[in-house]
Amino acid sequence: MKRPRDCIICGKAAGSGEHVFPAALGGRRTSNGIYCGEHNQHFGPLVAYLQEDLLMMNACLEIRPDRQDSAKPFYFDSDGARYRLLGDNVFIAPPDPSDPSSVPPIGVPVDREFLSLSEAEEWGRQIERHGVKIKIVQKQESRRVYKVQPYKITLKFGGHEVLHAVAYLALSFFAQYFPREARQESLAEFKRLLVRPVSDEDVWAGEFVWWEGGGPVDIVRANPYRFGHTVIVGIQSGSNQASAYISFFSCLNFSVRLGYVEPLTEVRSVVVYIDPEAQTAAASCREQKGFELDGRVGERLMSLDMLIRGGKAEAAMGDFLRRVSDVRSEQLLNALREDLEVLKSVAYEERFNLCLEIVDRYSGYVLQQFRRLVKDAESYFASLGAQYDPIVNYLRCFVSDCPESSNGLSYETTAMLQASCQVLACEIYTRSGRGEISAENVIELIQGVDGLNLLKKEILARILSVVLRGVE
Ligand SMILES: [Zn+2]
Repeated sequence: MKRPRDCIICGKAAGSGEHVFPAALGGRRTSNGIYCGEHNQHFGPLVAYLQEDLLMMNACLEIRPDRQDSAKPFYFDSDGARYRLLGDNVFIAPPDPSDPSSVPPIGVPVDREFLSLSEAEEWGRQIERHGVKIKIVQKQESRRVYKVQPYKITLKFGGHEVLHAVAYLALSFFAQYFPREARQESLAEFKRLLVRPVSDEDVWAGEFVWWEGGGPVDIVRANPYRFGHTVIVGIQSGSNQASAYISFFSCLNFSVRLGYVEPLTEVRSVVVYIDPEAQTAAASCREQKGFELDGRVGERLMSLDMLIRGGKAEAAMGDFLRRVSDVRSEQLLNALREDLEVLKSVAYEERFNLCLEIVDRYSGYVLQQFRRLVKDAESYFASLGAQYDPIVNYLRCFVSDCPESSNGLSYETTAMLQASCQVLACEIYTRSGRGEISAENVIELIQGVDGLNLLKKEILARILSVVLRGVE
């Protein structure tokens, strides 16, 4: 039988080529005509809600929206400054040009930081729409700032907009795999709710779409992609309930009930695993068809209340961040392998400088190591009693940040960080001379116990020997 090609909402001729899983979230496959042009456009804002709420995760993974060249960064404010996160990097971001309060006063020179001159110029062009012309009068050297305190990022996810968007996704997927059932009159109520404007009135609460505590592994096998999304659509045998389950990154999960239908095919369930990291449509998803839909799809596995109070939501987010951190470690290892290959090939007299360069690139990690050592020593002396207060205070100046300084660190901390980097570079240099260095060894030095022990002996012991002599 020929596949219907009329809009599932209004029956007009359906266009083709719209994404079943949103392009903005890395969906790369297009459908066979589910919505007419008008309805496709009508649902666009729903995708925008999802994109906004998932932006931090997508930016972290550098997910490239389909048909675009690069990933979209995530902007956030922390301690009065605006930052941009993409992949493993956080950069200073220009003030939001759409915000009128970011416009500098006319005729008064102001200091602003940008990643590059071209970015500053672009910001100037965007600001012009507020009726102000920006002239760059003086440029300063670029600088690297160490961030000692963690960034504070507030994420919001959910709300009725996201439930509405999830309902739309569920219907699109159901129509993709069950085209004739999706056009049955019995789904009219669900569609009627879907075309309503997204309002504060929570029409979706509970009955049609809800947050789900159970992850995809509770229902189907684990997603084969490391950051894959899972969508299950199908029809329950017995009740004929058309149901869906949608999980983003295997950590934000939803269940959907679309209504009752008359099944017209043998196939009763389709599981789709979507890989937002894939670069081509062909590699972007895997489908699995079955003759029975798991009874748990469209059932309440765990209420939102249980989800939050039982700590499962937090655990799922923690699991996502752990997976991100595993990927980062892998990337770091590969980058270091390349560095060590270069190290082997350079002339003998250039080797030490290259070792320093390598360690300097990861000096953020070295700073964390050094701070950990000093903090441990600080709490040790603090536990010995008030007579050690001078030592505690002395140590504190090595772990204090200093927002006014050009690199964000106090003078003492900067000096000790440099010394620490030299100690580690020296160790890499010595070991590489004996042919005894691997990327894993370098990681152990900049992040692990090996590095800690070395810095304890070479740096902390010296700091303490100076101050303990003072006490005696
Ligand atoms: Zn339509």
